Amino acid sequence: MEPETKDKLFIPFFKPSFSGEEERAVLDVIHSGWLTTGKEALAFEKEFAGFIGTREALAVNSASSGLLLALEAFGTRSGTKTATTPYTFISTATSSLHLGAEVVYCDIEKDSYNIDPNRLEDVFKKEKNIRTVIPVHVAGNLCAMEDINACAEKNNAAVIEDAAHAFPAKSPAGFAGTLADAAVFSFYATKTITTGEGGMITLKDREKSELIKKLRSNGIDRAVWNRYTEKEASWKYDVTCAGWKCNMPDILAAIGRIQLKKADLFLQQRKKIADKFNEAFSGFDFLRIPPDSPGNAWHLYLLRIKPEKLNVTRDDFARELQREGLGISVHFIPHFDFTFIKKRYGLSRSDFPNAAEKADTTISLPFWPGMNEEEIQYVIDRVTKIGAKYYRKS
Ligand SMILES: *Cc1c(COP(=O)(O)O)cnc(C)c1O
Repeated sequence: MEPETKDKLFIPFFKPSFSGEEERAVLDVIHSGWLTTGKEALAFEKEFAGFIGTREALAVNSASSGLLLALEAFGTRSGTKTATTPYTFISTATSSLHLGAEVVYCDIEKDSYNIDPNRLEDVFKKEKNIRTVIPVHVAGNLCAMEDINACAEKNNAAVIEDAAHAFPAKSPAGFAGTLADAAVFSFYATKTITTGEGGMITLKDREKSELIKKLRSNGIDRAVWNRYTEKEASWKYDVTCAGWKCNMPDILAAIGRIQLKKADLFLQQRKKIADKFNEAFSGFDFLRIPPDSPGNAWHLYLLRIKPEKLNVTRDDFARELQREGLGISVHFIPHFDFTFIKKRYGLSRSDFPNAAEKADTTISLPFWPGMNEEEIQYVIDRVTKIGAKYYRKS
């Protein structure tokens, strides 16, 4: 049945779920007079570590910085390689390039957006000196960590989870962020909890954690808040390595602490919306609902169109959705389609059949915890209406 034509709405891709609590937390920091990294950031780290059950959590100014610091701490440098997939955000790869290392790409699974452990074995057979593997839990759906860890261990490589989408994803083995040697989370504006910009590195190794603390603050061997609050030798510090400037300021950490308290609620809300989308879209043979596995964090709702059933490309389908007022996005443009990566590695799409297929058929629908019934229904109506318009009657 044709859905009734409603007034046109605009449905954004994402809206942050903020309340008076975040506002008050920010004002408290401003009034305290301490704006940079201090007790809020320390408390955020402690609370985040407690939430996922890890020993060390280090707040940083983005996941991109976090990847850089974690990779440096695990020995990524000139002469080494990092294995990851082309189906991720660009900084998953460029973080290694900045350290002088090279990236080797591994295709994703047929039935998910995540790295394929079997193909990873082949990549290890072909390439020498892979120091690190970065599996990406795309959309919050967890990677096959057991197989990935086993493969990496056999080949003396470390595993760093790109957990930018995966808070709070939880497998039977534990939360994302505890499933490998280290992990990096993002609190970017559209992520599952947000501080506007921000990130968190988690790991168990205390020595590496101490190193990362220095790396994120210009190689300085003492925390700045001690430098300004202790009575003696407050100006004195040593520099023991070349670092960057990647610390998280207290204004952002204060927002993060409030968001963290709501993470379970947000997840429940996203799950409910995903259930509604799944139920609605399952009834149409030209759509494919997202892969799901236990503990999914449901960061994104990745809908696929089936080209064999529709007389329309993904790009045109997406354009029509935008015309109808849907703030859609695409996750991801695969790395092999970027000029920079193409020039550097001369990759062929045919080497990554699964990534290429998904890259050409996937659309990220508007999706956030506070979406109301009218907004959810509007998205469903417009997607199915456009699908029906291009349906191949064979
Ligand atoms: C968002 C994202 C990042 C980068 O996060 P920032 O905090 O914006 O630097 C890295 N990897 C993936 C998979 C992402 O989606």
